[in-house]
Amino acid sequence: MIEIEEARRLVLERVSPLPSESVELRRSLGRVLAEDVASPENVPAFDSSAMDGFAVRADDTRGARRDSPVRLGIVDESRAGHPARASLGAGQAIAISTGAVIPTGADSVVRVEETGLRDGMVEVRCEVQARRDIRYAGEDIRGGDTVLQSGVRLGPAELGVLASSARSCVVCHRRPTVRVLTTGDELVGPEEPLRPGAVRNSNAYSIPALAERVGAEVAGVAAASDDPDVTRAAIAQTLESDVTVICGGVSVGAHDYVKQALADLGVEEVFWRVALKPGKPTWFGRHPGGLVFGLPGNPVSAMVTFILLVRPALIALGGGQPERLRTTARLERDYQKCPGRAHAVRCSLELLEDGWHARAAERHGSHILTSMLGAHALAIIPTACGDVPAGERVEIELLGDG
Ligand code: AMP
Ligand code: MG
Repeated sequence: MIEIEEARRLVLERVSPLPSESVELRRSLGRVLAEDVASPENVPAFDSSAMDGFAVRADDTRGARRDSPVRLGIVDESRAGHPARASLGAGQAIAISTGAVIPTGADSVVRVEETGLRDGMVEVRCEVQARRDIRYAGEDIRGGDTVLQSGVRLGPAELGVLASSARSCVVCHRRPTVRVLTTGDELVGPEEPLRPGAVRNSNAYSIPALAERVGAEVAGVAAASDDPDVTRAAIAQTLESDVTVICGGVSVGAHDYVKQALADLGVEEVFWRVALKPGKPTWFGRHPGGLVFGLPGNPVSAMVTFILLVRPALIALGGGQPERLRTTARLERDYQKCPGRAHAVRCSLELLEDGWHARAAERHGSHILTSMLGAHALAIIPTACGDVPAGERVEIELLGDG
């Protein structure tokens, strides 16, 4: 058996970011940028008004008060998208909307609340400072400046900034493709009758969902019975993807055929068995076209080993940084454990006065899938650890589900 951190290292050592491709901005959410992006333009592109009101010369408002307003002639209007034609002379005002171009000759904006209209003229009821309520060209982004660097994961703000920077396409790393194969004579789909001895195939849903959540493209989900030939043929079909995930059949049972099938197909074993609870029989190997993970079939074990080993590989293939999901939290309650294997403990997180606290799920069994409901993180209690007292700081892997 190898340590979980060693297993993770062995996986990540074999991963490099997939090649890049041009992607439409609308389809780029969650991808990792593979180019530096500079804006060709100033943002904002022109000096504009931050308020609805009147563009004026600050000097013309000297001495204006509520009880003795200054009167200015309105010579034009500047609306969003429709700049004024006129330029502003002394004693004049131009009606202006938020976001509209500041007319030539104006150096400030009086807010509409500080004005009134009388006889076709505007009464300004207070003095304004020059430059007030003007947003200057390039204040957000200076034309030519790099706004996003290669390696950034694109979220909603990044998409907005890219659009502001005149980009409708961006170069991103390709998304890894994943095929999932579940194994077991007992498995039935959620729509099938529950014959004697049948087990609902939950991994066929949770595992592809985990892959999709991390930005991978699920190219197929298949099921194989516990038969050596069927298993081998089914695995052969899943190898046409960057990552193959096989659930179940990797342990030492008389009807576990996955390891033999992988050997027959020439998939090179990198490790089998990790000192982790749950997840001991986890298998990892590779072939020229991609990586193969054999995860234990128990629903919690499959999710946990996916999160700790497959997910980092998918993130790294997509050009991202898996270590960003690691942090620490304080254990909320005492945790009982014998040394010998690391434990991955599903936890909910709570922010208290002294930082984040992790509360372990009440029930532990690797078949208790409902213990994953509401989990925000996996706390990793190292192999050598015995009981861990409440308040101890432990390493956690965030599930990233917000
Ligand atoms: P295995 O790893 O094949 O020995 O399976 C271990 C346990 O997980 C058994 O109780 C299986 O019935 C169960 N199991 C295996 N595959 C799945 C699956 N796809 N969905 C739900 N349970 C499964
Ligand atoms: Mg099985």
